[in-house]
Amino acid sequence: MTDTTRDKTSSELKSTEKTAEQADKNEARLLKKKAIVDERIAAATEERGVTILLTGNGKGKSSSAFGTMARALGHGQKSAVIQFIKGRKATGEQLFFGSHPLVDFHVMGHGFTWETRNPELEKEAAEQAWALAKKVLSDPSVHFVLLDEITYMYKYGYLNEVDLVAALAARPAHQNVMMTGRTAPRVLLDNVDTHSKIANERHAFANGVKAQIGIEW
Ligand code: ATP
Ligand code: MG
Repeated sequence: MTDTTRDKTSSELKSTEKTAEQADKNEARLLKKKAIVDERIAAATEERGVTILLTGNGKGKSSSAFGTMARALGHGQKSAVIQFIKGRKATGEQLFFGSHPLVDFHVMGHGFTWETRNPELEKEAAEQAWALAKKVLSDPSVHFVLLDEITYMYKYGYLNEVDLVAALAARPAHQNVMMTGRTAPRVLLDNVDTHSKIANERHAFANGVKAQIGIEW
């Protein structure tokens, strides 16, 4: 064996040792993590419905909430949707879920749209939609509630966020509620069980791609 071969072999051996050492370290780290997760799973014993808020300026709030509703419906859970902002066109979610036998689907009748603004009509429409929302939030047969774009009603001062927080607190214990909107009032942020903020890292629209059916509505 030449000196060079011997050197190579010993450096190869060293690197194998290092890899084995790293693998052991990784395994120990994973086991430690697993123990922590197991501990948390064991500690999470409370069985009740949750309130989930999705905010932020990125795409994916309403679609995530409707995706969760599909999950609930897959398990046969009766659901209700109240959309606080009406688009120009009928949305795919309304066309799809609106005819589902387990879904009670409401779109705010008139007033607030993305395109027109009429504060008086908007307030009246918001109050009507809130009356419906209050009804489903007190109905124990409704397992999943989606209040889509509700946070705008507080931003514009059409509804009082304290009423929402009170209705959420008084709802049936097993009921799950999801709410969406770009920003939310402090009292709501402080009282929901789960809050995710979807950040806009990039959106096709900014590069001139036209809004399209099946993706935007
Ligand atoms: P989606 O319904 O697709 O999940 P969203 O609920 O997160 O979107 P909204 O703030 O309700 O978003 O906006 C509704 C519309 O605006 C959707 O058509 C969506 O594609 C579009 N949109 C969302 N985020 C952005 C963005 N950062 N830039 C441009 N358009 C956006
Ligand atoms: Mg939305």
